[in-house]
Amino acid sequence: MSEVRCESRRRALAYGGRCHLASLAGEPALEVKGVSHRYPAMQDDALSAVNLKIHPGERVALVGPNGAGKSTLIRLILGMETPLAGSVSVFGHSASRCLHRVAVVPQRSSIDWHFPVTVRQVVTMGRYVHLGWFRRPKAEDKEAVDAALEAMEIQDLAERQVGELSGGQQQRVMLARTLAHDADLMLLDEPLNHVDISTQELIFHTLERLTAQGKAVMVSTHDLGVLTVHFSRALFLDKRIIADGPPREVLTPETIAEAYGFEFHKDYAPWTS
Ligand code: ADP
Ligand code: MG
Repeated sequence: MSEVRCESRRRALAYGGRCHLASLAGEPALEVKGVSHRYPAMQDDALSAVNLKIHPGERVALVGPNGAGKSTLIRLILGMETPLAGSVSVFGHSASRCLHRVAVVPQRSSIDWHFPVTVRQVVTMGRYVHLGWFRRPKAEDKEAVDAALEAMEIQDLAERQVGELSGGQQQRVMLARTLAHDADLMLLDEPLNHVDISTQELIFHTLERLTAQGKAVMVSTHDLGVLTVHFSRALFLDKRIIADGPPREVLTPETIAEAYGFEFHKDYAPWTS
C-alpha cells in the first residue's frame, strides 16, 4: 500500500486503527479555544466562549450547577458534538484523531445498565481502541484488564452482569474501563455520585497516582468539599467559565454565588476566611 493510501486508511480507522499520534511539542493535553455550543431547538447557548487549557499532571475539578454545560463540554472534547464556534484539541490534534489518548467515564445516568454484559467485558472495551473492533484481545490486553480490575478492587465481580451491581460498584467498573484504556487525558463525568466513602477514596487515590505519572484528569463534580483536598485546580462553569484557578483561591462565596445563583453560608467555606 502506498504511503498516501496508508495514511488515509489510518485516518479512516482513527479509533481502531492504531493511530498513535505523537504529542506536538509543547502542546497541552487539552485546549478548548473560544468554544460555544447550542443544541438544535434550544433558545440559549449551552456553552458560551469557553477557553481552557489543561496540562499533563493536572487534576482539574469542573464545577457548576445542573445544566451548566459540564457534560456538553465533555461531549465536545470527545468530538461527540461539533461546536457551533471555536475549536478543541487533544495533545495538539482533534480528538477524533486521538481517541486512544482520551478516555471518559460517562455520567451514570447516560448509560444503559440493563445491557447484558459482564464486568470483564465492559473493562475489555477499554482495550478496543488499541485492538480495533475485530481483533481478539491478546495476552497484553488481558493483563491490562486484570490490572484495571485489581486497581479498582473488583476482581471478584469480573464475571457478574454490570446491571446487577450497586451504583458504586458500577462506577468502579467504568473507572476500570478507562484504566484499561490507558489514556493520557481522562474525563470523568460526576464519578462521585452514588459512591460510598471507600469508593470515593479509591477513585481519588487512583487519580492522584495517574496524575503523578503525568496523565491529565478533569472530573465534573457537585461536591465542593473535596476541591481543596483532591484537586490542583477548580474550574467553575455556568455556560461560561466563571472562575479558574487553585481551589483555595477560586472557592469564594462570590464565585459560588455567581455559579449557583445564591448566597452561600460563610461557615461552609472556612478556607476563605
Ligand atoms: P450539566 O452536565 O452541567 O448538568 P448539560 O451539559 O447536560 O449540563 O446540559 C447543558 C444544557 O444543554 C442544559 O440546558 C440541557 O438541558 C441542554 N442539553 C443537554 N443535552 C441536550 C441535548 N441532547 N439536546 C438538547 N439540549 C440538551
Ligand atoms: Mg452532566
